[in-house]
Amino acid sequence: MIGHDGPVHDEASAEADPTLDAAQEQAPEAVAPPSARLLADFLSAEKDRVLAAMWAVYATRDDEILLPLARQVSQIRRATADIDLGGIVASHRSNLEHALDRLTLAGSGRCLCGAYPSHPMYNPVKEEAKQHVRIVGTEPNPRQWEADRICECCDCGRRFQVEQGEYHYTWWGWRPIDAEPGRARR
Ligand SMILES: [Zn+2]
Repeated sequence: MIGHDGPVHDEASAEADPTLDAAQEQAPEAVAPPSARLLADFLSAEKDRVLAAMWAVYATRDDEILLPLARQVSQIRRATADIDLGGIVASHRSNLEHALDRLTLAGSGRCLCGAYPSHPMYNPVKEEAKQHVRIVGTEPNPRQWEADRICECCDCGRRFQVEQGEYHYTWWGWRPIDAEPGRARR
């Protein structure tokens, strides 16, 4: 008997990749030298591009992205000084300032979790999804609807107690609780 001579079907033929959209969303972190593009956006004097670059800096802890930009902070500051960045619930000018502080923090070699206490828009659930922190517990907070979350930095192990509140928008207050097992009561 000789083997059948029908056509060989490859059942594993490629279909549309359902992860493409997700991959595209993460493109700024996946592309090899993304800093150059972000820097061009920061220096473009176009509000939308500056804001997109700003949010990219908020979203990542990747030194390959942040460190080249950290060396350009003064240039970015000059190039963005006169742009009207707008902002509805919070001024994008202060958001941009925080993004630049974040670059400076990265450039100093300290852990990026050090940025959390100085900005109200770090959502611990999103930070956990990005594997920047782990939510390791909760603590009732009589002043808020949501219990505080106890978060541990995935990079340095520092712990924070994170309060969630509402004031025009949802905000989060990150307070370091290192070596402070006893919680203050009011
Ligand atoms: Zn840390």
